[in-house]
Amino acid sequence: MKSKIWLSSPHMGGNELKYIHEAFDSNWVAPLGPNVNGFEADLESFLADGVQVAALSAGTAALHLGLVNLGVEAGDEVICQTMTFSASANPIAYLGAKPVFVDSEADTWNMCPKALEDAIKSRAMATGKKPKAIIPVHLYGMPAKMDEIMAVARKYEVPVLEDAAEGLGSTYKGRQCGTIGHMAALSFNGNKIITTSGGGALVCQTKEQKDHVVFLSTQARDTAAHYQHSHIGYNYRMSNIVAGIGRGQMEVLKDRIAARRSNNAFYQELFKDIEGVTVFTEPSEDFFSNHWLSCITIDEAVCGKNREQLRLALLEDNIETRPLWKPMHMQPVFQDAPYYGTNVAEKLFDRGLCLPSGSNLTDEDRARIAKAVRAFFK
Ligand SMILES: *Cc1c(COP(=O)(O)O)cnc(C)c1O
Repeated sequence: MKSKIWLSSPHMGGNELKYIHEAFDSNWVAPLGPNVNGFEADLESFLADGVQVAALSAGTAALHLGLVNLGVEAGDEVICQTMTFSASANPIAYLGAKPVFVDSEADTWNMCPKALEDAIKSRAMATGKKPKAIIPVHLYGMPAKMDEIMAVARKYEVPVLEDAAEGLGSTYKGRQCGTIGHMAALSFNGNKIITTSGGGALVCQTKEQKDHVVFLSTQARDTAAHYQHSHIGYNYRMSNIVAGIGRGQMEVLKDRIAARRSNNAFYQELFKDIEGVTVFTEPSEDFFSNHWLSCITIDEAVCGKNREQLRLALLEDNIETRPLWKPMHMQPVFQDAPYYGTNVAEKLFDRGLCLPSGSNLTDEDRARIAKAVRAFFK
């Protein structure tokens, strides 16, 4: 059996263990300490001047606390991009709020600003109140059309929580994804562009917001020697061990972005002569994707093959690929949620496949992938 080529696997830089050893040597084996502070500072200086980052246990936790911070409560509606991973939408349900799903547009595969406006207007008519928040996603690293989305959000005065779990290091018109909305969630899960094994962060705009997020994430203890609580708290803070991995990973983030982008260039070259296959890439120079995952769409009417056949053919060769995210409005668990759009996401799901995209993909891996792909389309 040939060795497995993964879709996206962890890729350590080398200094992660140094930071973990420091944590052990100083006995900061806790959900606070120098690595947590250092990792937050690294993220802040990477993202933008003045942003405030709270390191948390997961991207999902960051989305949850982001919604809490934006005042989402039981019975509220929250708009979410339908084409995404379920973790974008689940925190809406944790709060007893209701997701409203919005379609993607064809250029970026992300939230369609027109469908967004349509959804806000229709929900206001249907329920008598506006949605409480908007969650656009930077899918596979591709920045969403944030100017248009923010313009709609401002018009109707609804705050935006960016799901930048897949978009660390991507930029839109020169601005880092995760710094454009009112708040943003990052993820450092094992398959993301950098990983802490598991972890996330909430990007805030002010120190007060960050302090409140940290307070909520550490069980919401009031300032008193006895344990006193006037808020519902959460146990969502990042551990100082995990943050040590994050500090090591931040040293190599730029290399990881370059490597993922070079994978995308490799796939563009590989598929350029295969009719009916389109490699997903930036629509214009306004967009800079970290290309967390490289994806293609396959038009069966043109090439006579579909994404499922390609997936299985590559699996035969022990090469892992994955269909695009199944849209949330098509998921059994969200079948009752309202949906606005023109089925762009459904078509993408039907035709799209994510290809091996790790920053640790070797030349031999690429050669194996190229051979298997060419054999399949021959
Ligand atoms: C990974 C991911 C999340 C969740 O992050 P975790 O750190 O795994 O909790 C949320 N949204 C999207 C789009 C993701 O890809």
